[in-house]
Amino acid sequence: MYFSETRGNDGEHLARIRFADALLSPMASHGGIYSPEPMPPIPAGFLESHLDSSYKELAYALLQHVGVDIEDAVLRRALERYDRFDDPANPVPVSHYRDGIYIVELYHGPTRAFKDMALQPFGVILSTLAQTLERQFLILTATSGDTGPAALETFRNQPNVRVACLYPAGGTSDVQRLQMVTESAPNLKVIGIDGNFDDAQSALKTLLSSQRFKAELAALGISLSAANSVNFGRIVFQMLYQFQAYLELVRQGVIELGDKPVLHIPSGNFGNALGAYYARGLGLPIERIVIASNANNVLTEWINTGRYDLSKRELIATTSPAMDILKSSNVERILFDLFGAARTAELMAQLDQHGVYQLDAGEHERVREIFAADFCADDEGEAYIREAFARGSLIDPHTATCFKTCAAAEFAERVNLVYSTAEWTKFAPVVDHAINGNPPADDLASLRAVATRADIDIPSIIGELFERPITHDGVIAKTDIEAEILAFLRA
Ligand SMILES: *Cc1c(COP(=O)(O)O)cnc(C)c1O
Repeated sequence: MYFSETRGNDGEHLARIRFADALLSPMASHGGIYSPEPMPPIPAGFLESHLDSSYKELAYALLQHVGVDIEDAVLRRALERYDRFDDPANPVPVSHYRDGIYIVELYHGPTRAFKDMALQPFGVILSTLAQTLERQFLILTATSGDTGPAALETFRNQPNVRVACLYPAGGTSDVQRLQMVTESAPNLKVIGIDGNFDDAQSALKTLLSSQRFKAELAALGISLSAANSVNFGRIVFQMLYQFQAYLELVRQGVIELGDKPVLHIPSGNFGNALGAYYARGLGLPIERIVIASNANNVLTEWINTGRYDLSKRELIATTSPAMDILKSSNVERILFDLFGAARTAELMAQLDQHGVYQLDAGEHERVREIFAADFCADDEGEAYIREAFARGSLIDPHTATCFKTCAAAEFAERVNLVYSTAEWTKFAPVVDHAINGNPPADDLASLRAVATRADIDIPSIIGELFERPITHDGVIAKTDIEAEILAFLRA
């Protein structure tokens, strides 16, 4: 598996690299990212031969097939992380929702969001590579709530890697915050920022481009990597459960091999959907990949009109904050894959300079062949949460956006597969409001109210968070972040 740069080469970065390098140094020339060169399709009979495979066996076979340059023993050890999921024999359950709609539950890992699907094995691989190379890495991450906990969890006590995680104070749910601020491993630093997610992210960008910061890191012998979904080390693991979900539909007798379901994916940075796109490219039968957005519907507009337009938009805070994104980083990899580096560089330059680009008619047509999209407002989402509850399911507000896309007439006769990206427990106040009509409360009160109404216990993995001592308290100003991180690294 080889990678090249989405915006062409500047003579300083390497123009063509392998997987391990893409994972350690994800940033490419001209502000681009590394993206895979065409991957060979899976051989005939591949799906059939894996009908009885475990998730780990299937994942291993796919990673071998695409040719990641990671030692066998390391890959196997990374995949053992799926043993930490609720049911190691079935880490990615698929359940029936109603006629024509099935749900793939991607949230059974330790932090209860789909980020664990990729970050769990990713953490093992990055730390092992760092040890082999005898290098020290710093992972800097800004989170709106799900990436941070998952990144901290995977790197806890992992040698040769430290993590500094910035989160917007007051901008996450209590559960998400507690998942971060109760981490006590010495290689993890959690920093609350006085501001919103955009502030946290722009503080991170400023830091990443600061020459002084880079010089300080170099003096300490520390290299920077990233754990967000521009890192292909995450995307590769997001290609795998697409196959598992498909095979699970076959095993359950819902479809036959070769049938093409419609996938509905709650999307922000387009990492989950990108995994589905590559899976389709590898030969997984998929009718269409449907992008579900919230009121920040820039992706819906892009897919439906070919226009990616930030010029008149402001970020809207919604009840599905992991999708409150305007600059969706992985769209660039779709552009590169469909239209090549020269055109991608041109379009991304237009976006950077004018806040907008427009695909031509032919290009737009190619996007439409693969993707469809719609968006779901918060009140519509709550109605879907209520409806799901009436049918016996608790769903989170991100997953809820997919029921809007499933309602499109063109998919009525199809098998629709909804990607459930978080457990309801991470967003209990929204769920409580939807099903009980309670006004927004703190998470613990909402967890209790929902659990009582549904006649279940609060899952212990979540309930325990409220008992754990807080190890990272305090909130700092953006201007103090650099000093805080350097003090952590020098300690
Ligand atoms: C991260 C996340 C998303 C968005 O996924 P992308 O890969 O960024 O498109 C959706 N829902 C939840 C709950 C998430 O944590």
